[in-house]
Amino acid sequence: MLEHIPENPYLLLTPGPLSTSKGVRAAMLRDWCTWDEDYNQGVVQDIRRRLVTLATENPTGYTAVLMQGSGSFGVEACLGTAVSPKDKVLILANGAYGLRMAQFLQTMGRPYTLLQFPETVQPDVAALTAALEQDPAITHVAMVHCETTTGILNPIEDLAACAKSFGKTVMVDAMSSFGGIPLAMDRLGIDFLVSSANKCIQGVPGFSFVLAREDLLAQCQGNAHSHSLDLYDQWKTMAPTGKWRFTSPTHVVRAFQQALVELEQEGGVAARHARYQENQRLLSQGMASLGFLPLLPEACQSPIITSFRYPTPDFDFLSFYQRMKQRGFVLYPGKISQADTFRIGNIGQVFPQDIHTLIHTIRDIKEM
Ligand SMILES: *Cc1c(COP(=O)(O)O)cnc(C)c1O
Repeated sequence: MLEHIPENPYLLLTPGPLSTSKGVRAAMLRDWCTWDEDYNQGVVQDIRRRLVTLATENPTGYTAVLMQGSGSFGVEACLGTAVSPKDKVLILANGAYGLRMAQFLQTMGRPYTLLQFPETVQPDVAALTAALEQDPAITHVAMVHCETTTGILNPIEDLAACAKSFGKTVMVDAMSSFGGIPLAMDRLGIDFLVSSANKCIQGVPGFSFVLAREDLLAQCQGNAHSHSLDLYDQWKTMAPTGKWRFTSPTHVVRAFQQALVELEQEGGVAARHARYQENQRLLSQGMASLGFLPLLPEACQSPIITSFRYPTPDFDFLSFYQRMKQRGFVLYPGKISQADTFRIGNIGQVFPQDIHTLIHTIRDIKEM
């Protein structure tokens, strides 16, 4: 049956939406009724259970809430619902996604303070400790796991432990890492974690999800700044019934369930992590041999996406991009101001063999 699913014209080496399997794309070829139990029980509740199992060592006391919209909608829903107007959030930022959390709080008028680091530097525990000691009004600490801006991996284990030692609520944007890097919320002390359908679980874009400690979410009634982004309300409807409050992206949701099954078949998060790491290792090794240096030191480089410096000041990324696309690879521009960079993602239906072919292709193009 999968032979009838068309091949993609090129491989997406991007931070998502990313290349998906034919099985995931095939799962979208039928329609679903949002009222019927085939969908609510068979698909939605199954996804919610699988997500909690992926996110924890012991699932008791944790819940998953699915939310319409891209990942940012989930982050906004989580901040707007978990943070009351009387609370104050400390945001650790070393890239665009940390700053976006500040933008959400700014727009909704919730108190926050920003602890900002350069884009190539990990937030550190000493700075977090000092900030928490200085401002006892802080109730929540929000951070990004893999800052997709550069591909830097932030030390959330240490940062969450520090925030917890001060008794703070911990929120993590694990958008680009969840499902691709092993992580247990209960062991790390993460209270709220946000991710979306089209990153390391390898589904297609269309919704986000929040994993939360149930006892904390239960205290969030009436907090939300927005009715449609009220995570508490969505949870109250979804947890007992599998229903979303408003129309859900049924095909996308069914594809996501298939993506979760394929993640399990691959061997779970540990196996996927190993594949991404191997992709990244081959990528940075191959690129170095062609004169492309990584932006980040190896110690904080994630296996998700890698930023490369332009090899020469007159490097023409757009023309490189077009030639690579003709040869079957779609790359990603850089997102930082400090240096001229472009990015190559390792996530999605991408295997070490693809990276070998990629490196050969770049070598060909460079020699032209
Ligand atoms: C992709 C991503 C988001 C969400 O972006 P959307 O475009 O709204 O899906 C948020 N944070 C991080 C770290 C991301 O990689």
